[in-house]
Amino acid sequence: MISISRLISGKVEDADRIRYSGIKDKYPSVLVFNVTRNCNLRCKHCYSGSGIGLFQDLPLSSWLNAVKQASDMGVKHVLLSGGEPLSRRDVHVIAKEAHERGIRVELSTNGTMLTRERLEELRGLIDYVGVSIDGPEPVHDRFRGVEGAFSKALKGVRLAKELGFKTGFRFTLTKDNVEHVDFVFQLMEREEVDRVCFYHLAYAGRADRSLDIDNKTRLSVVKKIVERTKAGKWEVLTADNPVDGILVYSLTKSVNVLDLLRKNGGNKSGERIADISPEGIVYPDQFTPVPLGRVENLREIWDEPRPLVKMLRERKRYVKCSSCPFFDVCNGGLRGRALVYTGDLWGKDPSCYLEDIFKDGLLRESSPTSL
Ligand code: SF4
Repeated sequence: MISISRLISGKVEDADRIRYSGIKDKYPSVLVFNVTRNCNLRCKHCYSGSGIGLFQDLPLSSWLNAVKQASDMGVKHVLLSGGEPLSRRDVHVIAKEAHERGIRVELSTNGTMLTRERLEELRGLIDYVGVSIDGPEPVHDRFRGVEGAFSKALKGVRLAKELGFKTGFRFTLTKDNVEHVDFVFQLMEREEVDRVCFYHLAYAGRADRSLDIDNKTRLSVVKKIVERTKAGKWEVLTADNPVDGILVYSLTKSVNVLDLLRKNGGNKSGERIADISPEGIVYPDQFTPVPLGRVENLREIWDEPRPLVKMLRERKRYVKCSSCPFFDVCNGGLRGRALVYTGDLWGKDPSCYLEDIFKDGLLRESSPTSL
């Protein structure tokens, strides 16, 4: 994840302390808990292929055990996701266990189940509520496969804000909604929401590559996001494409930005972040379908690393674009997307738009240190 606002304005949010610490821990500092594959919506771009009542998720005891292991490993941050995490009636119990162990907890939700009762259960346990918004009402509802999804999500956002939760939007960039980035900023202004995260599409679950934008469009839309961020008002992040950091550097030519990007180190799937599926399989992230182990033995994955875990740590030796002058700030992008596109876990991430940054004249064909 790249905090555009941190790079542009220098404003430091809590999660930036992990993101730009430069500390290399043995264990991940962020774990995504996909606590369920059940969901009341049918989103076109759902990376977990979730749906209504189709799945058998891990029991509560397994998630509580995962929290305990995470705490022993020094994990700093747990993201409760799904499916729709609120479709689990006991999600607040997982949040409570993590919170009481000093772990920062975020909720990633479609917003439609954010009732007063559920929010009261979560009050004091959750540090951030991120609600997915895909564009104006008709676009959002079409995307989500359910009429009324937008108005329910917005109602949830308003309620969460009223009850004092830090609340923001999550927007996945696709061909069908890329022209609505301005709308998201307008909605933030109107609803007095102060954080947004823009996700680049990862090809997993129902999210097919045919939904993705091309890299020329990617460059222009991320430039727009950077421009809007300059207003300095919002916390703005992008996820799943570290080339966005290179773009900020190319626009600012700031040595300080380059230094922060180096500390961040780009994509760290399987190192700084890992994902636990609803069935208890541990993956490098939510999108890369190469299992690292089982949740029951979470800690062992990094204590006694299998070859794949070691290879992810030393990926510069394997990734096809490792001669890139920006490899130390990008780390080769998203492996899951490379795997789906090229059939090779170490192939080139098709969403890398570095070439387009060069073509645009924002960078010269030289190493970043000589700029
Ligand atoms: S070529 Fe590879 S390392 Fe360089 S910016 Fe693209 S994805 Fe990142």
